[in-house]
Amino acid sequence: MPAPTTIEEILKDLRAGCPCERHSYCPSGVLLRNFSPRVIEQHKCIEIFKWIESRAQKREVGWDEAYMLWADRGYAKTFAEIYMDGMKHKELFERTTGIKLEENRS
Ligand SMILES: [Zn+2]
Repeated sequence: MPAPTTIEEILKDLRAGCPCERHSYCPSGVLLRNFSPRVIEQHKCIEIFKWIESRAQKREVGWDEAYMLWADRGYAKTFAEIYMDGMKHKELFERTTGIKLEENRS
């Protein structure tokens, strides 16, 4: 039998072997939620946002603050509305924030 090749496959395999029903708090369920493609892609978008915001404010914006600003500006809501499996972070970031990445990479 071939070994699982992606994180998602491994996590689904863990969950399949789990004796609980809803996976609300078990490690398999928590891992599956925390490492889903959607969560990972949004985390990357927030990393880019953190970098841009730090440059704009001429100081280091921390992760907690970046997550709060991301939500306060409505980006978390917009991200949830536009996200579809298979979309990559660059498109997600630009469509969520309206910020074109090339303009911020000079
Ligand atoms: Zn479980």
